[in-house]
Amino acid sequence: MKIDWKLVKKISETPGVSGFESAIRNLIIKEVSPYCDSIRIDNMGNVTAFRKGKSDQKLLLAAHMDEIGFIVNYIDDEGFLHFLPLGGFDPKTLTAQRVIVHGKKDLLGVMASKPIHIMSPEERKKSVEIKDYFIDLGLPKDEVAKYVEVGTPVTRERSLEKLGNCINGKSLDNRISVYTLIETLKLIKDEELPFDLYACFTVQEEVGIRGAHSVSLAVDPDFSIAIDTTIAYDVPGSIPRESVTKLGHGVAIKIMDASAISDYRMTKYMKGIANKEGIKWQPELLPAGGTDTAIIQRLNKNGAIAGAISIPTRHIHQVIESVHQEDVKNAIKLLSKIILKIDQFDWSHQ
Ligand SMILES: [Zn+2]
Repeated sequence: MKIDWKLVKKISETPGVSGFESAIRNLIIKEVSPYCDSIRIDNMGNVTAFRKGKSDQKLLLAAHMDEIGFIVNYIDDEGFLHFLPLGGFDPKTLTAQRVIVHGKKDLLGVMASKPIHIMSPEERKKSVEIKDYFIDLGLPKDEVAKYVEVGTPVTRERSLEKLGNCINGKSLDNRISVYTLIETLKLIKDEELPFDLYACFTVQEEVGIRGAHSVSLAVDPDFSIAIDTTIAYDVPGSIPRESVTKLGHGVAIKIMDASAISDYRMTKYMKGIANKEGIKWQPELLPAGGTDTAIIQRLNKNGAIAGAISIPTRHIHQVIESVHQEDVKNAIKLLSKIILKIDQFDWSHQ
């Protein structure tokens, strides 16, 4: 299995901040169409690719397509843009970044703040807050006003690159999972599926797992699996029990995070498959944060037998997120086997 660099680059670099996912949605629809029986796009903009299985038990897979970004909430007299974040940001990650302002046309901007030279000694000691930043488009107010209005979305500008054994770029949370799900659909395209498969690409996860609500209600799944990134804090300064996962140590099987406990049968099933198929994996227990799993597990009639697979990610929620190529390949392999063998496990409560 090889990484499709052209595709992963396109998926990472295509803009799609929460609530403004049109460009990435169109790319996903184009990429998955050849590998499913039908596609449904709901009113929120979630995309569900359906494939009929032998039995009508339902397996829902969910990867969120949105990325963290910003929205313009004020344009000042000098033409500088002020904004609100869409998604969780550590303010220090905004320093010295280029951004793309998606107005009537895309404009390049820089995320700017006060130079250290003119900060008072007290200011230097304080950590910078999101409200201390503004966007400089290099244009006067009247030019800015032609293209940008309050409510215009903004994304981070960064190209995807190969970095050692890794894939490095912006928005790998969660575009690497979008890539993983698309590649999984390709890998199983000629296989007969045991259960009906709903491969969902959800919107607005980063602002509070919102798109997954309508998807879960619509599909009403028996089984659900989210695909997302997780923390790999395996870097200088970390201690082993803090690392959550380690880059290159395999695809992560989620045991729990702050918003969901994976079904004990699902984790047993996943681990069994990984061990039998020789797929390198590691457990994930994340003390804070959550994924679409939280909603697709419980927002349906009977509750779903839910789990999640995660792709270890260093420097998460920064524009230089790194994932290991082998972990991505293992995620694709594991997900495809999970889909194909799901009817071969005893799912009764024990
Ligand atoms: Zn995510």
